[in-house]
Amino acid sequence: MEPHDDVRMRGFRSRTPVADVQGRIRAHAAPLPAETIPLDQTPGRILAVDVHAPIDVPGFARAAVDGYAVRGEDTFAASEQGPIPLEIIGDSQPARPSNLVLQPGQAVRVSTGAPIPPGADAVLQAELASERPGGRHLLVLGPVAPARHIGQIGEDIARGALILRAGRLLRPQDAGLLASLGLAHASVIRRPRLALLSTGDELIAPGSAPGPYQIVDSNALTLSHLARRDHAEPLPAIIARDGADPLKSALDRLLDPQRPDPPDLLLVTGATSVGQHDLMPLLLRERGHLWVHGVAIRPASPTALGALPDGRLVFLLPGNPVSALCAYEYFVGPYLRALGARPDPWTWPHPTLCLPLARKLVSKIGRTDFVRVQIRGQGPQAAVYPLETAGASLLSSVVYADGVVNVPPDSEGHPAGARVQVYLF
Ligand code: AMP
Ligand code: MG
Repeated sequence: MEPHDDVRMRGFRSRTPVADVQGRIRAHAAPLPAETIPLDQTPGRILAVDVHAPIDVPGFARAAVDGYAVRGEDTFAASEQGPIPLEIIGDSQPARPSNLVLQPGQAVRVSTGAPIPPGADAVLQAELASERPGGRHLLVLGPVAPARHIGQIGEDIARGALILRAGRLLRPQDAGLLASLGLAHASVIRRPRLALLSTGDELIAPGSAPGPYQIVDSNALTLSHLARRDHAEPLPAIIARDGADPLKSALDRLLDPQRPDPPDLLLVTGATSVGQHDLMPLLLRERGHLWVHGVAIRPASPTALGALPDGRLVFLLPGNPVSALCAYEYFVGPYLRALGARPDPWTWPHPTLCLPLARKLVSKIGRTDFVRVQIRGQGPQAAVYPLETAGASLLSSVVYADGVVNVPPDSEGHPAGARVQVYLF
């Protein structure tokens, strides 16, 4: 699969199938190591280790309702017609130790959450009791079975139990649970850091209006947002002018071994096609390995893939904004999700709809197509319209589109009326 030495001004002799490129990527997609973070940052992160409960929750038997701690057997014969008197020997309140010990015929007034005094085995709910004036006695109006209305030690979580498994996508209530175990931090998979390099003499940073012959670097923004969607951490993008020297010094900056936040992968847009200025594949070969240059996919055929000597992957994406987005979805997004140990990293995260095509969709055998489509009509009338005029350079085509239909290389497309799966943007 070693690509041709220099394709500039010659074009690709052959293009690598998408599945082969994806295979290369999968082979290098081991999850990143763990990091420790405070519990207020855990939702949405991936737990790195199994968590066993270090303590029982609750750690003491507590009242589950307001009422009276009693011995269940003292109440068995009670009814409204035949109430049974008990002596009230005191109160138990939440967070306070109680030195009361219950003897037969006695009760302790408790509020929800209060410790159950020794000797008691149930809580008589307030509705089944009638306290006598003076607060020294009550009448039991019905029976309560032993263990009723008591939260037992370890009833919520038993010490030693496996409560969360490694690989879990943490939810808000998981943070609450970890906190209730007395923990302050969780060990989660580190998020991949992504270095972004935009190349081209014509580029200016986003935020100002382009002058004559200038183009705003829109790719860096689109790609950083896509990377965030995939739970990665994009580093601030840099722009490099065309030419070997500026590109080399940009790579030096991004890959500086001294930097405190070294990227886990490098994403370059532009300078990877077959033009005279498209030096990135040659530079990558000089610095590491160029595995693939030229992929059988439309609209991202100039995509290249390789690695640095330390194993970090380098993705060279075409500068055309739609091609860059297409190559991101096929190659970069899945890799980022796999590094982050996200569930199902190879499946696209888009919601999907299955709807009939309003007109035929033509594709070429041997090529994967990323076809931008609109969905028009409601309910049973809804149909998929491929956007035929959508060139790779027209960013507006992915803005007007509702989604994309992926046509695999073994398909010549679909006739009008065929149901296709639309990945919604
Ligand atoms: P290249 O892949 O460098 O040949 O660029 C192809 C086309 O995409 C050219 O029209 C570039 O101006 C445009 N382009 C390249 N990089 C970017 C970028 N970062 N943002 C927007 N457009 C770009
Ligand atoms: Mg360029």
